[in-house]
Order: sequence, then structure tokens, then C-alpha cells
Amino acid sequence: MADEIGASASLTPTADVGKATEEEDNEREPPMSGAGGATSGSGGGDEDDDEDEEDEEAAGGEARDVVGELSAERSRRAAYQAGEDGTDPREHFNVVFMGHVDAGKSTLSGNILFLTGMVDDRVIDKFKREAKSKNRESWFLAFIMDTSEEEREKGKTVEVGRAHFDTENKRFTILDAPGHKAFVPNMIQGASQADLGVLVISARKGEFETGFERGGQTREHTLLAKTLGVSKLIVAVNKMDEPSVEWSEARWQEIQDKLMPFLKKSGYKSKHVQFVPISGLTGSNVKDPVGDECTWYKGPTLLQVLDDMKLPHRDATKPVRVPVLDRIIDRGTIALGKVEQGVIEVGQTLAIMPTRMLAKVESITLDDETEVPRARPGENVSVKLKGVGEADVQRGFVLCEPEAPCPAVHTFQAQLQVSDLGDRSLLTAGYQSILHVHTSAEECVLEKIVSVTNPKTGKEEKAKFIRSHVVCTVVLSVGQSICVEKFSDTPQLGRFTLRDEGVTMGVGKIIGLPRKQVEASTEPVTK
Ligand code: GDP
Repeated sequence: MADEIGASASLTPTADVGKATEEEDNEREPPMSGAGGATSGSGGGDEDDDEDEEDEEAAGGEARDVVGELSAERSRRAAYQAGEDGTDPREHFNVVFMGHVDAGKSTLSGNILFLTGMVDDRVIDKFKREAKSKNRESWFLAFIMDTSEEEREKGKTVEVGRAHFDTENKRFTILDAPGHKAFVPNMIQGASQADLGVLVISARKGEFETGFERGGQTREHTLLAKTLGVSKLIVAVNKMDEPSVEWSEARWQEIQDKLMPFLKKSGYKSKHVQFVPISGLTGSNVKDPVGDECTWYKGPTLLQVLDDMKLPHRDATKPVRVPVLDRIIDRGTIALGKVEQGVIEVGQTLAIMPTRMLAKVESITLDDETEVPRARPGENVSVKLKGVGEADVQRGFVLCEPEAPCPAVHTFQAQLQVSDLGDRSLLTAGYQSILHVHTSAEECVLEKIVSVTNPKTGKEEKAKFIRSHVVCTVVLSVGQSICVEKFSDTPQLGRFTLRDEGVTMGVGKIIGLPRKQVEASTEPVTK
């Protein structure tokens, strides 16, 4: 079995871990290296390689057959996705702001809201007064994003703040990823919902260097974002106004030259990365082009880049998948999440996986608080569910079509790209860590090391332990069933990170699910 899979090209280094399968099927990416370490071996697998795995344990066929039966629904849903039913045709995207603490993420996102008219003048005045009274005058823009009193006192963004803005062709939700090291788990949740990443880099003397060095958050965030499916990156080279920078073209060039090789190693091709020099504080080149202070930059502003961004197609015709991020109780049970696939509608009955409970959709609210009759893929939604209680809806559960529920398993086979293991220089079977997959986080056990790719030869070899930076095939297990899919079927539900005491140990994709568990869980839910 292992040999059979081993023969398939998909087990060459995890070049495509986190790659957006939805686009450019034929492209090969450079092998992804873990936290800084280059994996040798040929630029490896691609999603279409996964077709070689047909006769492996996985059983995803069930779900696909049902989709066939649903074909009458397809054109209706496709028309909806195209905005042909009179709804706002502009697509919705989640943007995650990443980068080291103090790079200027909150200030920039606050200013974007201000510049796109999302915050009214009275609120701005209030924030200005508040910031002044706390002797943090220059931070008023960050206040827009940092909503709790505690965060304002400390000047740090603790939770993933959310806000919305529109451009001519798109609607956006900002997920403000906190830059503080202790809050990386939140960054994972934020990025697990993101379509697009803005990596904020401080150009200020010394700050770019700190953020990028070992231990700086720039590297870890970028790597996580790629794993979690953020396929395109805008690098906002920020604080260009700062006295140590003064819109220096040399500094702008230096930052690009140093960052790009790293971004490439993380799996981003140059054509998927766009650099923009800005000042999040003054707003220069955010909405309007930079003025006289800069003569050399003639490119688009940050908002133009966002507006023009082409992103992978989402599939409205596939079975519904809404991983639950949270639930709230407000005269009923409300599930919060992002529609990753399919279309959900008021009046529809959904199955909550893995418990297979049925619930009727009473209302759907987009996260700008507009009630809608249905929501297409890419939308962040609050779904009021009838017929279920508080405990029936939990983070990590997935709302599905009852005719085609997602697999729920307690073990799976995965291709893992191991990071720098630091003090713990080897991993062996029995190793325990936390598995983060879409919105769920579960303790997991490394059950078996199937094979390790020899970095010199690129060949699969049997091994008893795993070292830093290797690519390997492993079997992982969790205590109770979790909702996942093969990466090749639904990337959003098939990519994961392993973390141990706050450190990312590895990133991976699910390549095989146990047939029996899949068959049992994907039976249509009737009553
Ligand atoms: P975050 O931790 O990444 O969210 O960073 P903040 O937005 O809180 O900003 C950190 C500090 O950098 C604050 O003192 C900001 O006023 C300052 N800052 C942010 N953006 C700029 C900028 O474009 N220019 C200058 N000069 N300072 C900035």
C-alpha cells in the first residue's frame, strides 16, 4: 500500500501544500521549505497527481455521485454566483493582514476603512480624542480596528477584528491578524478564512530587519498563510513616510530583493506577489497616489491592486460546506462561518457534521449585517438554525447538504512538510500535537510514519523517525471524529497545520481517508 502510494508523484516534496487548486492546474511550484529550511528534491506534486490515488483507501466517490443527481440545481446556483438574480454581483473576499507586531497592520486597516468612507467623521473625532487622552495620538487609526478597551490600553490587536469595505469591483472583509507571537492561533483562524493576504512590512530602519529575522512573525505568518490557502499576496511596504525612509527607492528595492527569495521558498511565485509602497499612517498610495514626496513610483495604489486582483474561482455547484467558526445564541442558535463551497438558502435543511443532526436555515445574515435569501461561496455568514440547541453547533463542525455530507473520520493519511523541530530534533510514532484544520483544533497523535522522502534522492524510504525539514507521509489520528476532506477534493477542508506549544511543527495536506469511515459518514442524512 505504502509502496503503491509512494510511486505516485504526489509524494514528492509538498510543493502544492496550500496551493490554490482552483487555478492554474498545470503549474508546478517550487518545493516548499519549512520554516526557513530548503527541502531539496524536485519541484513536486500537483493536484492532478492525486488522480493516481484512485485505488487507495480513500472513498470520495459517494459525494460526487450525489452531486451528479443534484445537477438540476447546478445552473440555478451558477446563475446566482454570477449575480444574475439581481443581487450585488461584486464578489466577496476576505483579506488577512499579516506581519510582525508594530508593522502597522491596524493603522493601515483603520485607514482603509476611513478612506473608503466606512467610518463617519464623528467616530473618527471620538477616536482621535480618545487616542490623545491616552497619549497615543498617532494611533487613532488603529483604534478603529482594535475594539476592546484592553487592546486600546495596550496598543495591541488581540482578537481577529473584522470590518468591511468596498471597491468598484469587489467587496472585502478585513480580518486583522494580530502580530503578536502569542496570538498565532488566532492568525490561523483568520487566515483559514482568508482569500487574499496583505503582508505588511515596516520599511523603518531596523524594523524590517527585526520582523524578518528568526523569531520575527513575517516568516511564520507567510508560511501559514500559504498553507492555509492564501494563494496571492500583496506586500505593503509600509512606513515609507518615516524619517529613516523618506520614500527611499533604495530601501524599497532592498526590501523586495530580500523578501522575494523567501516568498518563493514559501511557495509564492513572483506573479502571485505584488509589492506596493505605502504609508498606512498618512494614507499615501493607499487610495490616492503618493504626491511629491515620491517621484519614482508610478504603479497602482494599494486599493487599485485590491480592486484588480484576480482570485481563484469558487464553486457554487458543489455540495455545501460551511465550517463553523463560532456560534452565538440570540433567540435561537446562530452558526458563524464562511461558505467555502456551494450555495446556502433560507428554508433549506442542512446537516451538521459530524453529528449528522438536521437543522433548517431560518435566516442568513452577511457579516455586514445584511439579511439575504441565500449566500454564495466566499461569503462570511451568520446562519440562524432551527431545531438545534447551543451544544449542537460547535467550532470545527461543518454545515453540509444532507444529500452529500462531508466525511467525518478519526484518522487519515497525510503528506507532511516538517518545520524546524528545534530542541525536539526527532519525531517518532506516538508524538502528540494540535491539529488545526479549517476552523477546528484537536489534539492529534502521529500513529505511523509511512515513509520519508530522502532529500538527496527524492525517493520515499521507510523510517522510524522524522527530522526537521523533511517531507513525509504519515498517519494521524484524533480522539473524536473531525470533518475533513482529501485536499484534492476540497482544499479548504484538506490542508492543516500541526502545532506544539505554540510552535508550528509542520504543514500538510490530507491525501487519504479510511474507506469505511468515509462510507459511514457520507451516507445521505435523512432523519
Ligand atoms: P500593528 O501591531 O501591526 O497593528 O501596528 P500598528 O498599526 O499598531 O502600528 C504600530 C506603530 O507604527 C504605531 O505607533 C503607528 O502609529 C506606527 N505606524 C503605523 N503605520 C505607520 C506609517 O505608515 N508611518 C509611520 N511613520 N508610522 C506608522
